[in-house]
Amino acid sequence: MEKTFYITTPIYYVNASPHIGHAYTTIVADVLARYHRLQGYRTFFLTGTDEHGDKIAEAARKAGESPKAWADRVSAQFRDLWPKLSISNDGFIRTTDPDHVRTVQYILRKVHEAGDIYFSDYEGLYCVGCERFYMEKELVDGKCPQHLTVPEVRKESNYFFRMGKYQDWLIRHIQDHPDFIRPERYRNEALAFLREPLEDLCISRPKSRLTWGISLPFDDNYVTYVWFDALINYVTGIGYPDDEKFRTFWPAAQHLIAKDILKPHGIYWPTMLKAAGIEPYRNLNVHGYWNVDQSKMSKSLGNVVRPLELKDKYGLDPFRYFLLRDMVFGLDSSFSEEAFVQRINSDLANDLGNLESRVRTMAVKFCQGSVPEPERTAADRTLPEAAQKALAEMEAAFAELAMHKALAAIWEFINTVNRYIVTSEPWSLAKNPADKGRLMTVLYDLLEALRVIAVMISPFMPGTAGKILERIGVAEPAAQTFETIRSWGGLAPGSPFKRGDALFPRVEFKSEEKAAEQKDKKMEPLKPEISYEDFEKVDFRVARILSAEPVPKSSKLVKLRIDIGEERTIVAGIAKDYKPEDLPGKSIVVVANLKPTKLMGVESRGMLLATDAVEGLTLIGFDKPPKTGAKVR
Ligand SMILES: [Zn+2]
Repeated sequence: MEKTFYITTPIYYVNASPHIGHAYTTIVADVLARYHRLQGYRTFFLTGTDEHGDKIAEAARKAGESPKAWADRVSAQFRDLWPKLSISNDGFIRTTDPDHVRTVQYILRKVHEAGDIYFSDYEGLYCVGCERFYMEKELVDGKCPQHLTVPEVRKESNYFFRMGKYQDWLIRHIQDHPDFIRPERYRNEALAFLREPLEDLCISRPKSRLTWGISLPFDDNYVTYVWFDALINYVTGIGYPDDEKFRTFWPAAQHLIAKDILKPHGIYWPTMLKAAGIEPYRNLNVHGYWNVDQSKMSKSLGNVVRPLELKDKYGLDPFRYFLLRDMVFGLDSSFSEEAFVQRINSDLANDLGNLESRVRTMAVKFCQGSVPEPERTAADRTLPEAAQKALAEMEAAFAELAMHKALAAIWEFINTVNRYIVTSEPWSLAKNPADKGRLMTVLYDLLEALRVIAVMISPFMPGTAGKILERIGVAEPAAQTFETIRSWGGLAPGSPFKRGDALFPRVEFKSEEKAAEQKDKKMEPLKPEISYEDFEKVDFRVARILSAEPVPKSSKLVKLRIDIGEERTIVAGIAKDYKPEDLPGKSIVVVANLKPTKLMGVESRGMLLATDAVEGLTLIGFDKPPKTGAKVR
């Protein structure tokens, strides 16, 4: 039977632009999709955007746009981002797509006709931010636990889905299918919700207060509640009810979500499916949050970490590697640029990058430009055995969504290969013609190890995998699947090598202090150019300070009596840096033809020149005593 795999991300709500959380979920889905394709599964990978509801209507109104124009714009941001992250989705669904609208109405009609949707009055506490009514006991100090605002009392006639009817069925289903919701902590969380009586779900909004949604097929005065609409995307996206794709992929459906939307996916969605006569999905896979450490960031230093921008700074494959390597699936993790750079330097530049460059350098030097023929006698089993061990560990890790463990297993193999270079000493073998056969075997095995590594890393770092395969002479990199690395020796002797730069250049992490220091060193932007004639208009003169006194009620200003060949008064903002009694006798530079101005009631006829010192201000001075009143040229 054909193996199939269907992976979905949540459809992202278009009230915000893409951020690290969206990127992580989508990259994980991509890694899973690529992995299953390479394992020979017929795969479908769906993502998209969720576009209805009063939050979108509200955001559009504030922006002076129509909800559709708003949704088009933000949806495009997501659609445009995914190719930049090497996301290999097969479908991109929007809840405003006509086929989705049809499917939602089809399911609503079906559930309504089956008697699981009824009309009723409801009065309750409603949070606008959450778009839902709250039960008293769910509130914290009378406030919405998400928004910390007091919900308003609302009375409405609405349509309700008999969700409560399916409570016992759902509990049994979760108990009978231990990995229905995983990891286990979220399965337990869902079961905890279900220990309380499950209320019916209000699934409509009157058009009197919201028109931006899908009309109920049995009552045109209402639109569909945004969650009831959105969840259905997972079956619309593969052509429910009639498409062959639906029959092929639905039995293998895997949803991937962040933990904040466990309830709609773990409770609403399976009961909706049950009521619509559709089998439940296979697995709900729930991950934690990336905490971006705000305390180490400061806006004034201009070093706020926008994780998505770091992919441009350090490269896409390192970015994907870091996200998958540093988060244990299901738990929260913190994102730091420093940790990211450490991973690049140690795992990528040092372990993998150096291995690739050492092997290729030796191969080019000793093998005349192409993959050598190995001597099959007395073959050393170190690398073939380590490769199979890594592959088995990687597959076990993927089965439990422990992608960080899969990477650790690959890296253990990389380190084994690095050690093998040291113990097999190809450079010594090369000195003795009698060892030629042995040398060719060692080099063949090292190149074959690179092929195995490339296939294993390709779900995570498809670009890097392709580069490695090309460089070691693999003619069709795209044809390299997991099947091709189950036995040793798939690399064809005689294939020509290709040249290439370092896979991962080392990078330097600048701490925020360093970054600030460097920012200081940067020259301030220059003012627009002026002509010499313009410069000539300014009359700089040497002045001697005759006397100085503070300007009353000012902490900054000092009144100076100066001599520039004639006596005059100027006012200068140097009181914080110079005491009046220290000033008389000093020679300074002043702009003598500046239009007089009044400062704190004192007329100033000229301006002295000063600049930033290491601390505070310093007056522009001279290294020989100047002539008072002289022109400065
Ligand atoms: Zn709320």
